[in-house]
Formats: sequence, structure tokens, C-alpha cells
Amino acid sequence: MDEQGSSGDIKLPRRRSLQVEFSCNSCGERTKRLINRLAYERGIVFVQCGGCLKHHKLVDNLGHC
Ligand SMILES: [Zn+2]
Repeated sequence: MDEQGSSGDIKLPRRRSLQVEFSCNSCGERTKRLINRLAYERGIVFVQCGGCLKHHKLVDNLGHC
């Protein structure tokens, strides 16, 4: 089965995905990634830096605590 999101032609599914941009605190590279919205809202999203290939945890900082 093919999952959507095979490399190449990338569509932007509106409902479940969210694009985030972050700056790596190790190498300073700026990376954009599509992440899962639900995971993001739970604060459990890991994204891989495009520069040093480290994984970074993205924390939901929308401030609902
Ligand atoms: Zn990095």
C-alpha cells in the first residue's frame, strides 16, 4: 500500500498535517517539516534537522497550560 507522501509530488493535506519551521540549536539550520497535527497538539512531535540530521522534539507552546 502506498501512503500519501511518497517523495516527489507533495500535496498539502489540510486536515492532518501541519507545517512547522524550526531552527536547530546544534547546527543552526532552519528546517521545515510537515508534521502530524494531532501529535503536535499532544506535544510529542519529533522532527529531523535537515542540517545535522538530529531529531528534535517540538513542544506545543500554544500556551494552554
Ligand atoms: Zn541541526
